[in-house]
Amino acid sequence: MRKFLYLILFFTCYIFFSCKKFSQSNNPINIILLIGDGMGLPQITGGMYANNNKTELENFKSIGLSKTHSNDDLVTDSASAGTAFACGVKTNNGTIGIDFNGKKHPSILEICQKLGYSTGLVVTSSITHATPASFYAKVKSRNNHEEIAKQLSSKNINFFVGGGEKYFISRKDERNLISEMQDYDFVNNILEYKESTSNNIGFLTYDDQPPSLSEGRIPSLINLSKITIDKLSSQSKPFFLMIEGSQIDWGSHDNDIDYFIEEFNEFDKTLKTVLDYAKNNENTLVVVTADHETGGFHVLGGRLGNKNSYIKGGFLTTGHSADMVPVFSYGPYSENFSGIYDNTEIFKKLSDIIIK
Ligand code: MG
Ligand code: ZN
Repeated sequence: MRKFLYLILFFTCYIFFSCKKFSQSNNPINIILLIGDGMGLPQITGGMYANNNKTELENFKSIGLSKTHSNDDLVTDSASAGTAFACGVKTNNGTIGIDFNGKKHPSILEICQKLGYSTGLVVTSSITHATPASFYAKVKSRNNHEEIAKQLSSKNINFFVGGGEKYFISRKDERNLISEMQDYDFVNNILEYKESTSNNIGFLTYDDQPPSLSEGRIPSLINLSKITIDKLSSQSKPFFLMIEGSQIDWGSHDNDIDYFIEEFNEFDKTLKTVLDYAKNNENTLVVVTADHETGGFHVLGGRLGNKNSYIKGGFLTTGHSADMVPVFSYGPYSENFSGIYDNTEIFKKLSDIIIK
């Protein structure tokens, strides 16, 4: 009798684990990639201590380090680093989606689209800024915002949220991209965004670059991300979503500790929203990384306390540094992201998961 029970137990386990393996290798995987621009280990450390020693990143068990240098400089910018993890190639600082030989490369978002994925971009800079642009544009200069907006207008990204409306409607070529994008519902506030039932929505949150949180930026990245995930997950297709905390970088450029910590905090709370979704939807891979560290920051003091945690620290530069940046991952295939590797490997690891 006991032998018989063992046999049943063995087969139950066998079936359970082979089904689990089956689901990992055959079900399409949703990808949520979160970029903290300029979010090196010092920004994470500072944000964590200032939040009384807690960050959502502690829920990620797979951790790696990525080398961030660009083709022409040890210190990368967001265009070159964005191109590295979005398109898998090293390029020169300032360039988006094109390698140093002038060849254009498809991004992970564009590859996902070809495979029938729904796609989304949610950022706290303009939607034409270097990081989001790396996922859809091919331009020699990141400063060519009007060209980047034009390229976005033909990319069929289902949901995109960010500032920079002027690059769509107040253009040198006098085109109005918003009226040209007839398949899209353009919304003006978060309620309209939430209530729109369109499968293609553009939400241009500000005319130019959105302000910082302390200057009153709305809506929150947390709510925008939650609504976008709800929309993507109701499409009965797998999805790719990139969410960027764009201004962790800007606070660090300003050498302003309060600025980058407040932006990190919002990003950290967004991670909770994303993880809550991934915990209930096991075919969702979450990857969190940065394009580079900004400011050459170090935490040099401070204190912990329930309501009065704070940090002190110092910056070495108002530019970026060449430090490696961490890569946190959660969900199916997350173990692939541990170790030390080049930032272009992030593209390759993501492609390997979706193209099987
Ligand atoms: Mg950025
Ligand atoms: Zn920067």
